[in-house]
Amino acid sequence: MEDAILVVFGFDKTIIDCDNDNWVVDELGVTVLFQRLLPTMPWNTLMDKIMAELHSRGRSVEEVADCLRRAPMIPRVAEAIKTAYALGYLIHNFCCSWVVSDANMFFIETILKHHGLLECFSEINTNPSYVDEEGRLRIFPHHDFITCSLGCGLCPPNMCKGKVIDRIQASSFTEGKKRLIYLGDGQGDYCPSLRLSEGDYIMPRKNYPCWDLICNNPQLLKPQVREWSNGEQLEKILLQLIDRSITADQISPNQLLVVDCKYKTAPVSGSALPWLLGVPH
Ligand SMILES: [Mg+2]
Ligand SMILES: [Zn+2]
Repeated sequence: MEDAILVVFGFDKTIIDCDNDNWVVDELGVTVLFQRLLPTMPWNTLMDKIMAELHSRGRSVEEVADCLRRAPMIPRVAEAIKTAYALGYLIHNFCCSWVVSDANMFFIETILKHHGLLECFSEINTNPSYVDEEGRLRIFPHHDFITCSLGCGLCPPNMCKGKVIDRIQASSFTEGKKRLIYLGDGQGDYCPSLRLSEGDYIMPRKNYPCWDLICNNPQLLKPQVREWSNGEQLEKILLQLIDRSITADQISPNQLLVVDCKYKTAPVSGSALPWLLGVPH
């Protein structure tokens, strides 16, 4: 099978220019409550509690969605994603994008849909969420940390992004080799960076925690590092890496004519239970 490129994006401070949980909390006026409860429970559990509090104050899910649609994007990142997607669409089995995030499915889908980006991603790995019969948004952990101890030591208990990378790499044995390009900013993006192989690329946002951790011990990493400070740089570097891979892999002209993306068949949540996409325990 041919090589494929898989572009894996973090979400907060990598696609949007804020943390979407904090954005909702601040915009809907529950910052004080959030800060008071934060020392007492895991982040993911707290977000579920905050949604309950907003619901009890009469704030609807649609209000939360409106607020998410106002979240600032990093300039040029949407264009970069759309271009990468267009290349993948034209070149069979070439380039597909995933989102890996510790936010939740409702928040991420709302924002991606608003910016016309949802179709660009073949898979979203995040904490599952749904709106219950009372109209309250419920948020759950990606991994069940009560019955399953991950013990990664780098990631929060509800989600280890490195495990997602393990799953992609394991699937390479059955689906052909994949070259990974991983873009991220936070401490949670360091664990997956350590699991990338030679031939892969890590694109950390400069002067953010993932970049700091990489710079402290560059010898621990196998992938090549391409840092970026703004969306223009992200776009340029990402498209250069994709372009170089096309040339390096010497994709034959008839492959260029095949229109479809292999991973497009993977469901992006919707009716599927999102946690079924998660890492097996
Ligand atoms: Mg992030
Ligand atoms: Zn981890």
